[in-house]
This record gives sequence, structure tokens and C-alpha cells, in this order.
Amino acid sequence: MEKVHTTCIYCGCGCGLLLHVEDGRVVGASPSPLHPMSLGRLCIKGWLAGEFVDHPDRLRYPLIRRGDRLSRVTWEEALSLTAASLRAIAQELGPNSLGVLTSAKGTNEENYLLMKLARAGLKTNNVDHVARLCHAPTVAGLSYAFGSGAMTNPIASLAQATAILVVGSNTTEQHPLVASYILEARGKGARLVVADPRKTQLAGLADLRLAPRPGTDIAWINALLNVIIQENLIDQEFIDARTEGFDAVRQTVLGSTPEAAERISGIPAHDLAEAARIFGSAERAAVVYAAGITQHTTGTDNVQALANLVLATGNIGREGTGLYPLREHQNVQGACDMGALPDLYCGYQKVAQARQKFEQAWQTKLPDEPGLTALEMLALAEDGRLKGLFIVGENPMMSYPDSSQIKKALEALEFLVVCDIFPTETSELADVVLPAASFAEKEGTFTSTERRIQRIRRAVKAPGEARAEWEIISDLLHRMGVPADYASAAEIMEEIASLTPQYGGVHYDRLGACGLQWPCPSRDHPGTGILHAEKFSIGRARFRAVEHREPVEAADDEYPLILTTGRSLYHSHTGTMTRRTSLLDREVPLPAVEINPEDARLLGIRNGQPVMVETRRGSISLEARVTEDTPKGSIFVPFHFSEAPANVLTSQALDPVSKIPEFKVSAARIRRS
Ligand code: SF4
Repeated sequence: MEKVHTTCIYCGCGCGLLLHVEDGRVVGASPSPLHPMSLGRLCIKGWLAGEFVDHPDRLRYPLIRRGDRLSRVTWEEALSLTAASLRAIAQELGPNSLGVLTSAKGTNEENYLLMKLARAGLKTNNVDHVARLCHAPTVAGLSYAFGSGAMTNPIASLAQATAILVVGSNTTEQHPLVASYILEARGKGARLVVADPRKTQLAGLADLRLAPRPGTDIAWINALLNVIIQENLIDQEFIDARTEGFDAVRQTVLGSTPEAAERISGIPAHDLAEAARIFGSAERAAVVYAAGITQHTTGTDNVQALANLVLATGNIGREGTGLYPLREHQNVQGACDMGALPDLYCGYQKVAQARQKFEQAWQTKLPDEPGLTALEMLALAEDGRLKGLFIVGENPMMSYPDSSQIKKALEALEFLVVCDIFPTETSELADVVLPAASFAEKEGTFTSTERRIQRIRRAVKAPGEARAEWEIISDLLHRMGVPADYASAAEIMEEIASLTPQYGGVHYDRLGACGLQWPCPSRDHPGTGILHAEKFSIGRARFRAVEHREPVEAADDEYPLILTTGRSLYHSHTGTMTRRTSLLDREVPLPAVEINPEDARLLGIRNGQPVMVETRRGSISLEARVTEDTPKGSIFVPFHFSEAPANVLTSQALDPVSKIPEFKVSAARIRRS
């Protein structure tokens, strides 16, 4: 049996795996014993990563809408229509009436070409992707604080920490291999503090559990800093030598006493003081966080509050310290690195400053007007001002907030093209559907949440006429008059390396089974594990004072509960792949809303009973799951299930800086159906 070395496609951990191939079919997967992070381990999703590849639902042929139906056509017909329709809209209404949504599930090479297609082909900076909905505050917040929006240390460095604060991350379910390092540190005596409104599995194993009211993170994180300052647990030498702006933060957190924070967050003051002492007195303290911190209207400030904590205690640039943002998809980091963002080219080079460099490289004029974020594009589509959208590997109908608004926006488009491996709720609305190759059927690279750039390798042939996205996009670039004579994904990486300082030394022949961690500026550079060790790229790291702001929606008489949404161990994102993996779907086949026993009793709701959850945006029907894990006053709905799409309920209130929606706080009510 042939075994092909590749990378898991489910989460940002980026575990190495082997696809087992027999008679041209993927028949299994197993861990790569050589992988430096996963060390011969996988979670359940990784073990089953190959199963969906030859699922009968795969898209096999290009489709064009004729009346109510999507009909099979040739690639020539589908791509000619796509190019002609996008060109016609641009000619009539200007290039900014077009937009591109790329995919954090796609490879670096695909994301690079898509942002090139938007900018050089369509002449618009309207390009964005799903990081906007999960880690845009990390990019904005950490770029400001440290000069880089990336995880500061390798994941394995967590095992060396003597204290770990985990915030807004259900780590054992969503990033199981990261959890393994946290538990390794715990086993060696590290103190573990877990802050989450829900009682996660990791919270059950913590020395101290903090259960903040949703949307109050800045209040309690500032209280930790207040105690750390009052009890002189700061690292003054580090602050003086390597940072700026501490005095303003010191002034701001002066009033953020644990007692004041208890009134806002509901966390007992003595627990906050204890958490501060654990973190502040540790020799090596680390902070791990995920979407529970970022998916708020205060997302960027939440990230800065954590950066302030790390900087004040000098916990950065060393083994066992640092900030660990956990990206959900396997290539959220890479899609951001590749400039699938409206204001940045690859390598986080600002459009306003680097345009000439890219004009020279691509031999064409590029747009200078700033582009729109994903939700801004859809808002303009609803208004009729954005007419054409190219979506690759994304399913906004399920993953974007307030689905009925999203549907109106997509239906208002004059031309929608969707490229994906399976039919989705979004492709049902498309004018053209392009069948893509899965990760097992193409070459490329992903960049994991620890900045590790690693290869995926072709193990089997794509079904029907499905093609690798990089080939499809290259074809479209040609049709838009932009030279794109790439013979392979490796050649695209050569171009990326020539234009992206952090990837300057990244070449396929160097990636082997372990990949390389960026920054890797030159061919002889070994890659970088720990960032900011000697200096920050911006000189001094920046403190910034942040203060508590209430979420946009609060519980009231009409909607007395707070809804949060999230994930389960057995599914990924909108379930396109995991719900077509029989063992995963068998584990969690149906959605359920989690509710605290006390709330359930008051509402007369029993475990397993059908209920209706409503917010000001809409309602869904699903089963109730009565559990102590969800705090009184809150309910939790996973967003993987089209039978009860959680994003019918969520709101489009945005963080003003990063434009992330507030997925984690919606006023809701629940009743028996
Ligand atoms: Fe895949 Fe993430 Fe599981 Fe690793 S931890 S096997 S990358 S889903």
C-alpha cells in the first residue's frame, strides 16, 4: 500500500499525516511519526481525514445555471462565461463592483493567486476570507502590539510553561494536539487557569476555573493586570528595555480592581486575584486563546488586553512563554500571510505602501483604493452596488452571521461563481459552479497556526473533471490578460518567495516532512521557532490601554438568554467534509442547543426535547441538551448543521477595527416546540 505524506486539513494544528492509497483510492490515514509537532499522533478527525475524498456527492463537472437548474458544461464554457461576466460587470459599474472571497481551507498558492486575480485581474482590492470571522482581531491586535499577528512560539513550547492561561478556547475539542502540550506542562507541575463561560473539558482539569459573563473579557483581564501591578509582579526591566506605553495602561487598570471586575464579569474577586498571582509569579507563563476572545465587537481590544498582560510580565520571546492564538482552519494563517485581505498584499505589506513593488512584479497597474471586508462586500451586494462575486472553498450561507441577510445579498448579485469540492448551501445560489480537487488530489502548502509551512501532496486523481484550484485560477488570470504560466504549485511558491519577505527561503525542496516555520527570509535560513526573542520588528512592543465595553446585545425581558455559538470535536466548520465522514457524523449526527438545568427547569424543557431558539434575526428548531457545562443564563449552539443553522440567529454587529462579527453574544429565547 502506498503512503503519501501530507498535512491534515481540519484545524490549525497542522498535524502531519500519511494517506494510504490502494488501487487509486484513499483507503485510510495514519499519523506521520516524523512530524515535529504532532509526533506520531492525530485526533479523531485526522485519523478519518481521507474518508470524504471519494464521497459520491463530490462535484465532478463544471455547472452553469440554466433557469432553476445547474447543468453540466465544459470547462471552456464555464470559464469563458465567468471571465466574460466579471469583465462585463467591471466595464459597466467599475472594478469595485466585484469581489473575491478566498478560503482558509485552500492552499497558500491558491490564496496567493486569488488575491492576484482580484488585484491584477479584476483591478479591485475587494478580497477577503474567513479569517475575518475568526482571527482578524489577532492580525490587527498583535500586529500593533508586537509587529506580527502570528503565534509567538511553536506549539510544543507550551510544554515548557510553568503557568498557562487558556481563554475562550475549548482546546481539547477544537485543537486537540495543542491541548496535549498543555496537559504535558500540567503533568510537569505547571499551574493551569482556564477562563470560559462554558465548563469545557480542559476547565475541568484546571487549577482554577474562571467563568466570565460573555463579553466581559477586558474587565477581568485588566483586573489581573491590576493585581500584578499592585503586588509588583511586573517585569520592570523588560518593560523599560523593550516596550512603550506602559504608563497609560497602568493608569487605566488602576480602577480595574478585582472587586470592580467581579461586578462586571461575575468572576469572584478572590479568583481573579489568585489567577493574577499564578500568572504573575510564574517563571514562564503562556496565554492560549481562540475565537472565544476574538469573536466580539471588542475583539481587537480583547487581544490587546492579553498582549498587555504578557508584556507587563515579560512573558515573550522565551521558551514556555508567549501568546498562542489558535486558528480554526488548517490555513487561516497562510491565507492571511498570502494577502487574502483587502488592505494587505502577501507578507502583510500594506497596499498603500507596496503597490509599486507588486505592479513591477506583475507587470500591470494595480488598484490603490482600499478594498472591502467580507461583510462589507455582502452589504454592498444587498444594496445592488456589488454585482459579481467569486467564492472559492467558502460557504457564507452557513458560516456568516445573520444568514437571511447573507441570502438576500447573494441573491441580489448579478453573477455568483462558486468553486468547491462539494455542493453547498452557497453553491445552490451560484450562476457557475466549478469543481475543485480535494487536498488528496493536488499539490500545495498550508501554514499552520504555529507558522509552519508544510506541503500537501497529490495521492490520487481528482474525480470526474475536477481540477486543482491553482490551475483554475491560473486559467482565469490568463483570460483576464495577466500572464500565469505556472507549470506547478512549486513554481507559484517561487513567486511567493520572491515577493514575501517572511517566505523568502521557502522552496518545495526544503519542506520535507517537517516544513519550515516563518520568518524564513533566505534559502540558508533554518526558519524561526520563537518570535521576538531579541527584538520586536517594530523596535519596542506597544502597550495600549483598553477598557471594558458592553456587547451590542444584552439579555432583556423579551430575549432573556445569551446565545454563544461554536464547534464540536467531531465536526469542522460548516460540516461540508465531516458530515460526509460516516464515523464523525455517527458521533454527532444532529445539532442540539445546550442549556443549563436551572434554566431548563424554569422553562419546562427536558433533555432531548425539541425546542425552538429565537433571536431578533430568526429562529431554528433543534433538540435541547440539558447540561451543567453551560452556565445559567446562557445557551450554546454548534454551527456545523444545516438542519439548524446557528447563524440564522447571530448578528452582524462588528468590531470597529477588525470588522469581525460578534458571534459570541446574541440575546436569545428558547421555548418548547
Ligand atoms: Fe487534524 Fe487538528 Fe486533529 Fe491535528 S489536531 S489531526 S490538525 S484536526
